Amino acid sequence: MGQGTEYGLVDVDEVDTPGDEWEEIDVSDTEADRIARKRDREFEQFEERIKDADQFKVEQSVFDDATFAALYKLVQDGYVEAFGGPLSTGKEANVYHALGDDREVAVKIYRINASNFRQMRDYLEGDPRFEGLGGQKKDVVLAWTKKELANLRRAQAAGVRVPEPIATERNVLVMEYIGTEDGRAKRLGEVHIENPQTAYEVMREYMRRLYSAGLIHGDLSEYNVVFDEADGQLVFIDLGQAVTVHHPNSREFLERDCRNVASFFSRQGLDVTADDLLEFVTSPEPDPSRD
Ligand code: ATP
Ligand code: MN
Repeated sequence: MGQGTEYGLVDVDEVDTPGDEWEEIDVSDTEADRIARKRDREFEQFEERIKDADQFKVEQSVFDDATFAALYKLVQDGYVEAFGGPLSTGKEANVYHALGDDREVAVKIYRINASNFRQMRDYLEGDPRFEGLGGQKKDVVLAWTKKELANLRRAQAAGVRVPEPIATERNVLVMEYIGTEDGRAKRLGEVHIENPQTAYEVMREYMRRLYSAGLIHGDLSEYNVVFDEADGQLVFIDLGQAVTVHHPNSREFLERDCRNVASFFSRQGLDVTADDLLEFVTSPEPDPSRD
């Protein structure tokens, strides 16, 4: 992958703890940076068009040329055919609805000038996959984007329903769109939950599967779980900050996740505690006496 430095210095043969498998994390200049520097005619036309498009108009000041080049590259590579409206404009990222190759996709664009990239650094610092990462804002955000893709892959492999990761380019992540006929899927906190007990059982099972795969979500709450009407399933989203169990603060993050989830389901009328949830999530095997 070019001349870049690769991060992720843990050799797969040396570890047998889930969570520290080697992952290729390359934050060197991407094709998008090169496109932005070259500024060929086709890219300039693309950039003009997209800056003119209604959905990007308000945002254009927050995206740099290389971000537009990343979108251009994703279009060239066939991951995105057309951009739709914004699904969310958050502190660190904006999420757009888009049309992919043969399906709808969600495009999450991290801003390089993210307000709390220092906090991002803290999440990356204890993660063996990112050893040696420098302090450049751009590198941190690029690593973050790749980390979200890697985390989504790992969650998916562990049997946790998440948006299917499709591609990253620089600070842009393309993933499966979870939506309904009326728009983006509702967050857990936005829907009326008919059967909170079942929802809770699914949540804690997902948390346990993640944990067994060496991952802790780190920002789990009713805001980062959506309800997919198409298959009636809960979907964990927003895995950018998820850390491996070896992160120095991983226990703290896990306990906080448990508190958030237990507190939400208590408000739904269930008799659950953060301690019980923590116990369940960290217990290695499903209890065979359960049905
Ligand atoms: P926040 O700071 O608000 O937590 P964020 O920048 O961390 O947001 P996400 O939580 O990943 O970003 O996404 C923000 C919102 O965009 C989600 O709450 C959800 O409504 C929508 N969204 C994100 N990913 C998808 C997806 N794959 N399909 C449909 N909607 C999505
Ligand atoms: Mn979120």
